[in-house]
Amino acid sequence: MPNSHIKRLVIVGGGTAGWITAAVMSRMLNKTLDITLVESPNISSVGVGEATIPPILILNNALGIDNADFMRKTNATIKLGIEFENWKHKDHSYMHAFGKFGNDFPFCGFEQLWLRGRNTGDSTDFWDYSLNYQAAIEGKFAPLDTIPNTELQGLIHAYHFDAGLYANYLRSFSEQRGVTRIEGHIEQVKQDSENGFITSLQLENGEQVEGDLFIDCSGFRGLLIEQTLQAGYNDWSHWLPCDRAVAVQSKAEYPIQPYTKATAHESGWQWRIPLTERTGNGLVYCSQYLDADQAQDQLLENLNSQATTEPKHLRFLTGRRRSQWLKNCVAIGLSSGFLEPLESTSIHLIQTAAIRLLKLFPHNGVKQSEVDEFNRQSQQEFEHIRDFIILHYHATERDDSEFWRYCNNMSIPDTLKHKIDLFRDTGKVQNPTEALFSDVGWHQIMIGQGIMPTDYHPLANAMSQAQLTEYHRNLKAIFQQVVKKLPTHQSFLNKVHGTAH
Ligand SMILES: Cc1cc2nc3c(=O)[nH]c(=O)nc-3n(C[C@H](O)[C@H](O)[C@H](O)COP(=O)(O)OP(=O)(O)OC[C@H]3O[C@@H](n4cnc5c(N)ncnc54)[C@H](O)[C@@H]3O)c2cc1C
Repeated sequence: MPNSHIKRLVIVGGGTAGWITAAVMSRMLNKTLDITLVESPNISSVGVGEATIPPILILNNALGIDNADFMRKTNATIKLGIEFENWKHKDHSYMHAFGKFGNDFPFCGFEQLWLRGRNTGDSTDFWDYSLNYQAAIEGKFAPLDTIPNTELQGLIHAYHFDAGLYANYLRSFSEQRGVTRIEGHIEQVKQDSENGFITSLQLENGEQVEGDLFIDCSGFRGLLIEQTLQAGYNDWSHWLPCDRAVAVQSKAEYPIQPYTKATAHESGWQWRIPLTERTGNGLVYCSQYLDADQAQDQLLENLNSQATTEPKHLRFLTGRRRSQWLKNCVAIGLSSGFLEPLESTSIHLIQTAAIRLLKLFPHNGVKQSEVDEFNRQSQQEFEHIRDFIILHYHATERDDSEFWRYCNNMSIPDTLKHKIDLFRDTGKVQNPTEALFSDVGWHQIMIGQGIMPTDYHPLANAMSQAQLTEYHRNLKAIFQQVVKKLPTHQSFLNKVHGTAH
């Protein structure tokens, strides 16, 4: 079995993970693979993943998706960043804005120039140099790759979309490319008696679905990877203690804002994700400090518009499956682990896992070296994102509740401690080249949460003080002028969706 050719791919689950995997595999490998997706009529998908990050555009491009068509079919809006309200302390907010800040010098990031300015009395805000931030707070958007007549980056965006419509969209995409969908509940998973490889799935109607490689997209339950193969789980809840969420939809608010909002509460935080026809809301919280009824009340009290659905309660355990690929089973999506949605990274993790599998595809049979490489890369990626999310909770001045006192005083991973110390001492960020969150992403969360470097790089001294002041003034003026001329996000949406809000 381990050395036999992989010809039959079986995907278990028809949520976002199942359909992204089916779409990637059918687009790239449909000539060599027979792809089947099984989804249960009895178990609905989790359905809450609606905010994305910019690499979603890489996926859309790779799949050959027309973005306007995609937006119309998924009720999508534009996302330029995430606003974090009350995280550093109450009545404070900052944004993790996508894209670059200012303009980098060779070997010297813009933040060093800003830090030098700050050390010498310039009080301009770091976010004055983010085009994305300036456009987001003004509610502006148009596709803009670069700022005309300059080398400056334009707007970098992602999408908010309806999770159910997104799954339908990718389902139709995949079925058009030959994926066979079976609606059936898997009752039993059969394994080879010698090596434990999965051989087939037995459905409740008695049907057998055989395969060579199985992708577990069955959600938190991990039907294949955990319930069958017992891969084990690294529990990270001591660093990320939120373990519940309650979600509700509410009426759309026009004009629609082009960013996600994450508002910290006493024992967790609340998301607001604006879509064209409704708003998605949810409270992520720690059950040790808040019960489900209190969480629901808190969520409903803090809605900006009338609720339109019944609140839906969810449980989760932050962490990662010890092996995301084990034998002939690869876990993708919630079955592979979960990092809470603060930075909208789960759909991204599905995308990268599907592409990683594509790159390491075991067409000649499962090789342990390939499995190890997949697991190594996945672990690195999960831990990088884990540290980034912990930073938001840990680096806070809040001490107004048990929850925040715990987060503030808890021990943190050594990797994150090193990052914080390095930034505080020198203004530098140590980041692997392939890391999801770029240096400027880390700068924003560090500064936004109140970690301010005491030094800056001497390369920032290349300009005279007068040149530096002029440089900052020019950049700020360019961004302000560009934003002034941009159309509103709402008018962009009206054009794409044919609406008149
Ligand atoms: C509170 C919360 C908020 C989130 N917000 C975001 C966000 O803003 N952005 C983001 O990127 N991600 C977010 N996520 C994560 C995102 O929702 C998931 O990553 C995404 O929906 C993928 O889920 P999935 O497909 O792995 O699992 P699911 O959606 O749970 O799908 C599981 C599938 O497996 C099938 N299945 C299960 N058992 C069987 C069986 N026995 N037989 C046959 N089929 C079976 C089910 O029918 C279903 O189709 C959030 C998650 C939570 C919990």
